[in-house]
Amino acid sequence: MLKGTKIYSIFTGSCPKCHQESMYKTKNPYVLSDVLKINDKCSKCNLTYRLEPSFFYGSMYVSYGVGIAFAMTTFLLSYLGFESSLMTAFIAIVVTMIVCGPIIMRLSRNIWINMFVGYDKEASNK
Ligand SMILES: [Zn+2]
Repeated sequence: MLKGTKIYSIFTGSCPKCHQESMYKTKNPYVLSDVLKINDKCSKCNLTYRLEPSFFYGSMYVSYGVGIAFAMTTFLLSYLGFESSLMTAFIAIVVTMIVCGPIIMRLSRNIWINMFVGYDKEASNK
């Protein structure tokens, strides 16, 4: 389902080139010691994930945007959806940011690498 689209790679954390295996050493983002541990290469298509030294530092810019999206969604849900006070909405945002932190970090990295590497049908057939 959706395999071959950037959306698939972004939400599954799979290799952006062949979509055949996870980039991460541990698939579950809540294993906190491994949250940012990325394999060096894709074993299927041989793509090196760090395109250049410190490549993933750039994902911090993406993470800002993703964080805002999570915060806005939480605010709209709590303030407008559940008609909570501003203070409650603020607390809900802080809790969401902490609880979803690992997901936000991984989503940002996935979006970042997908901005530079596209799906390659040839690579996925190998
Ligand atoms: Zn690959």
